[in-house]
Amino acid sequence: MVDKIVIVGGGTSGWMSASYLKAAFGERISVTVVESDRVPTIGVGEATFSTVRHFFEYLGLKETDWMPACNATYKLGIRFQNWSGVGEHFYHPFERLRVVDGFPLTDWWLKQRPSERFDADNFVMAALGDNLRSPRFLDGTLFERGNSDLGPGGAAFRSTLTEQDTQFPYAYHFDAALLAKYLTEYGVSRGVRHVVDDVVDVKLDDRGWISAVATAEHGDLEGDLFVDCTGFKGLLLNKALEEPFVSYQDTLPNNRAVALRVPVDTAERGIPPYTRATAMEAGWIWTIPLFDRIGTGYVYADEYCSPEEAERTLREFVGPGAEGLEANHIRMRIGRSRNSWTKNCVAVGLSSGFVEPLESTGIFFIQHGIEQLVKHFPQQDWSQRLRDSYNRAVNNCMDGVREFLVLHYRGAARNDNQYWQDAKTRKVPDALQGRLEQWQNKLPDAENIFPHYHGFEAYSYVAMLMGLKGIPLRAAGALDLMDGTAAAEEFERVRATAKDLLRTLPSQHEYLAQLH
Ligand code: FAD
Repeated sequence: MVDKIVIVGGGTSGWMSASYLKAAFGERISVTVVESDRVPTIGVGEATFSTVRHFFEYLGLKETDWMPACNATYKLGIRFQNWSGVGEHFYHPFERLRVVDGFPLTDWWLKQRPSERFDADNFVMAALGDNLRSPRFLDGTLFERGNSDLGPGGAAFRSTLTEQDTQFPYAYHFDAALLAKYLTEYGVSRGVRHVVDDVVDVKLDDRGWISAVATAEHGDLEGDLFVDCTGFKGLLLNKALEEPFVSYQDTLPNNRAVALRVPVDTAERGIPPYTRATAMEAGWIWTIPLFDRIGTGYVYADEYCSPEEAERTLREFVGPGAEGLEANHIRMRIGRSRNSWTKNCVAVGLSSGFVEPLESTGIFFIQHGIEQLVKHFPQQDWSQRLRDSYNRAVNNCMDGVREFLVLHYRGAARNDNQYWQDAKTRKVPDALQGRLEQWQNKLPDAENIFPHYHGFEAYSYVAMLMGLKGIPLRAAGALDLMDGTAAAEEFERVRATAKDLLRTLPSQHEYLAQLH
């Protein structure tokens, strides 16, 4: 049996992997996590994807427990600021499109334009975002009915991304260091062996498979399966097993970031229920609201901006609150390992791949990777077909997200300097070029977006294309010949629902203060 697992790395990926494997297999496997106290974790990665709830539910964790412990907040979507023009904003919400007479409401919007805000006309979330609302009422009920919601205190059934049939309306922001600590306690209390030490060598057997990792003070740690969670360095997969890395840098040029943790008085300022992504001269700045502080960082391409300039820009953006804070400069490896699973080593997290932080997909990739690992867990014969199937799923997921992110830069109306002008002429992934042309005549649908699972549905592509405004779009021709009354009524219903929710939902701060 394959039952002895050694995980190297104790960042978000190491502890998510350890706790998930324990939740899946319990006492039937032994799990060791070895992490260095000399090599820091990346120190960022705090906004997530709505599907992350499957992870917490799988572990049996309740929002009422883990959210206050990790200073977590709700995220209903991403607010894109200045991507279509300075001073403009729009939301990419976790909300599917309504459909009227067989056409998504966004098609009808192109025809009728009830207002200048396509997001507020099509999605209830835009009003909740603008007005800093919680997605839950004070009694814990979710604002949107029809979702398989367990309530903030419930965590009874275990599902994975594969069972995602509805669009859950929110994700979370959390303090990554606190989450790693929370998951460490979860894992250790369920039998995970926690070794704090440096891995100094990776030992290979005659076939070139990993037999053990050698540590500085705890000797050799032997295992059947090794999970590489060592971050961008890919100590086991890329270094010891020499699995090549496939760079995405030719299509996604941002390769650095500088980050700050800014304490704020959230009672006074309120807590926005969204991640903000503000377009800048050489990239974009994230603003992630936690219960007690903001996480913020400038993601940029060093071809256009020096680290000093980026830090200065970020500090100016934050204002007086940035004074005296230490900046974390990060070099990013953009792309993926050719195969994330080779021989008896699986890379999860940054060692597997990373497609830059826009759209918060890092933790989603971790979740996808470990869910797939459980679904493809090796039998004694270590079938190559099993590994091929795993690698296909992981590679497709990252390649699909790459397409979606390239669309953000190509599709942005912003065109005011070399960085944004180059974004319009830079190479795009082969198939995306054709899709971009097609979407000008037929808005994205399930049939004409990247064809494999990558977490994003057609509505996300539509929301981005409409919000970015850089690519001309047309309503379906059929709408010229159809009666638009039902669509006009649906726009009215969106407005009325939003108005009603603004009247009844508490602010995000009010709701979370109660949890604390
Ligand atoms: P790391 O955090 O780098 O951890 C590596 C671990 O390996 C550490 O514990 C270290 O001690 C250990 N280690 C290394 N070498 C050794 C050794 N020799 N011996 C023992 N241990 C060793 N994702 C999101 O989902 N949302 C976001 O908003 C987001 N923002 C991001 C912003 C930036 C700028 C970047 C770069 C990433 C972002 N991500 C985001 C991705 C997210 O941060 C990562 O996916 C996540 O933190 C997982 O990192 P990791 O655990 O793979 O690696």
